[in-house]
Amino acid sequence: MLWLDHRDKLVSAELINSVICAELPDQRMFPKLYMAVTSFMMHGPCGKARSDSPCMKDRRCSKFYPKKFVPVTSFDERGYPIYRRRDTGVTVFKRGVELDNRSVVSYNPTLLMKYQGHVNIEFCNKSNCIKYLFKYITKGVDRVTAALQLSDDHCVDEIQQYYDCRYLSSSESIWRIFKFDIHCRWPSVQRLTFHLRGDQRIVFKDRSNLASVLTRNKNKDTMFLAWMEANRDYSSGRGLTYIQFPSLFTYDSELRSWHPRKRGQMIGRLTFVPATSRELYYMRLLLNIQVGCTSFEDIRTVEGHRYDTYREACGALGLLADDRGFIDAIHELSILGSGHIVRNLFANFLICSSLGDPLRVWEQTLPVLVEGLLYERRRALNAPG
Ligand SMILES: [Zn+2]
Repeated sequence: MLWLDHRDKLVSAELINSVICAELPDQRMFPKLYMAVTSFMMHGPCGKARSDSPCMKDRRCSKFYPKKFVPVTSFDERGYPIYRRRDTGVTVFKRGVELDNRSVVSYNPTLLMKYQGHVNIEFCNKSNCIKYLFKYITKGVDRVTAALQLSDDHCVDEIQQYYDCRYLSSSESIWRIFKFDIHCRWPSVQRLTFHLRGDQRIVFKDRSNLASVLTRNKNKDTMFLAWMEANRDYSSGRGLTYIQFPSLFTYDSELRSWHPRKRGQMIGRLTFVPATSRELYYMRLLLNIQVGCTSFEDIRTVEGHRYDTYREACGALGLLADDRGFIDAIHELSILGSGHIVRNLFANFLICSSLGDPLRVWEQTLPVLVEGLLYERRRALNAPG
């Protein structure tokens, strides 16, 4: 995959034509290129002429060949290019079938001549293709594991077999040969837990005496309670939200308390809670905004007014009126996952009747909700339209 600098972007159809071609060249003027295109870049024959072609699914070509003749390169309504395929009369016979520009797989003449093999070049300018592209170029080639054994009476070590016969894609192999880091661990992230009053988790053995469990945990702080404690003790953290707190403070899990940070850097992350957990979910929304809280009441206090529930406080801050939190959650998830996961979340919101105005949420998140849908339906129905 080549990323073009903005100065070199192919912004017009003419520029695309200068790089990508989907036509047969004139055989007399460009005999070598004609040879290469006809040898490597023709799709088919498929369809009625050859119904057992591997591209055929349900009696149609799954790659949608032959395409239509079009006089100029243009973009369709989704922004994808439709390459120029003029009816030039240039053809080639493949397996006794005459093929024309409608069956040419798009190519770059220079690369095709250099490598003398099938090199399909596609233009892509949609940021929503990125996820698909990365999956596509890192998925590796098809593979099979096979073994010949004399008898099957000895013990099969499936774990060892997995290690012996593990395949790495070319990208991953190169990555490991160069000893690049497999993952990045900067900056450190502190998972921040939180809970409603009296709802903290306590771990005990199932045979423990319940009374002594209670006494033992009675005045024990949690990370969350210790944050409120620290806000009482130190003024320096009072301008920070809970998430920002680890930037200036470190948590000591033995002492269960926060202390001013001496060195290093860390960012905080609130643990995920689903919208179905209601008050806890609304508390999470508030924790992204409220600073310097020293009590549970502080979290649901907005402009000096103490609200009875976290939901009401969210309402006072304008977090609920337009389902902002849900819309943000859908957009946030769309960065991490593909379309069907996002649709799942939206469906869950509907089932749990979390949304104030579902239609509005739908309208405001439509582009990410339908991501990949068209592609999947095209494939499932095997129809380009
Ligand atoms: Zn086909």
